[in-house]
Amino acid sequence: MPTRYDLDRAELSALLAGEPRYRVDQVWDGLHRQLAEPGELTTLPKALRARLAEELPAALHPVAESATPGGDTVKWLFELDGGARVETVLMHYRDRTTVCVSTQAGCAMGCGFCATGQAGFQRHLGTGEIVEQVVRAARRARETDRRLGNVVFMGMGEPLANYDRVWPAVVRIHDDLGLSARHLTLSTVGLVPGIRRLAAEELPVNLAVSLHAANDELRNELVPINKRYPLSVLMGACADYLRAKGRRLSFEWALIDGTNDRLSDARELAELARSLPLPAHVNLIPLNPTPGYRTRGTSADGVRRFRQRLEDLGVNATVRRNRGTDIDAACGQLAARVELSPRAQRTSTVM
Ligand code: SAH
Ligand code: SF4
Repeated sequence: MPTRYDLDRAELSALLAGEPRYRVDQVWDGLHRQLAEPGELTTLPKALRARLAEELPAALHPVAESATPGGDTVKWLFELDGGARVETVLMHYRDRTTVCVSTQAGCAMGCGFCATGQAGFQRHLGTGEIVEQVVRAARRARETDRRLGNVVFMGMGEPLANYDRVWPAVVRIHDDLGLSARHLTLSTVGLVPGIRRLAAEELPVNLAVSLHAANDELRNELVPINKRYPLSVLMGACADYLRAKGRRLSFEWALIDGTNDRLSDARELAELARSLPLPAHVNLIPLNPTPGYRTRGTSADGVRRFRQRLEDLGVNATVRRNRGTDIDAACGQLAARVELSPRAQRTSTVM
């Protein structure tokens, strides 16, 4: 059975065949503008409301929720149809509110330092399952008088490996939830065919490429898919994306102690960043510890030094704060665990 955000407008019309035509708009606006559940649509006759509550069920079933003490970061663990579990993280910053969504349960790309990769691939998420993560986060933000303005596809999974479901979700988030393309960011491990498809789309979303190494030897090790799409090919696709969209790309770089934080790494990275028509912006993420990877993250001092080296080499770099590390909610290292760290348990509810 389709879930409430699986249907497009035509499919909703078909479901509402026999009802007055304006009902389609009412339900569509209710779901996307009011962020309402079908049962809450009080403008509908009671019987229709009840029918929709049954025929348009939720896709996501909350298993656990945790929040940092101030409520700046909220993480949900959702169970999907079939039992797979994914995580969604809502982050409030001073000037913006962002949700980090999952696109697959698990991931097949096998990056050794990544908790999701260590778990292996379970299944693709459907469009409705992706859109509903955004809707739930937007509802929660609204409850605390914040407006959800940004979506980053940096949760569990590789978005471009699930293109046919992810892209319709992007379009729905833009067209129907009303978020601007400038505020949507897809993060990819570097699937070149996906980047090329993205370049041909109309919406100019932001592209973040998880680089982590700037020479093929090291990248083959850290990011195995590099053997299929080596750096020269990947950089070609990045340059074409940039030319098509006129927008700067960003490179993500998880700093790993003694592995990719040396002076030579900074030099190689700077060279690659500057090889694009518009130099890439670098996001440095101190590596988060995961059960299946022994090497530690770079120290705070090392991170600062690496950033300074990049700046000295003419490349803009920011250090991404690991929001919610306390609650295992750091974007990009989501592992769908029910056990919560002792610190998080204080503020979490297991449902
Ligand atoms: N599959 C996509 C998007 C999800 S991962 C991708 O790889 O880009 C989002 C980001 O988190 C990626 O940059 C990924 O490399 C990074 N990441 C994964 N594991 C991490 C860890 N243990 N510490 C820090 N960053 C990590
Ligand atoms: Fe998959 Fe991204 Fe993790 Fe690599 S870093 S295993 S592509 S989720």
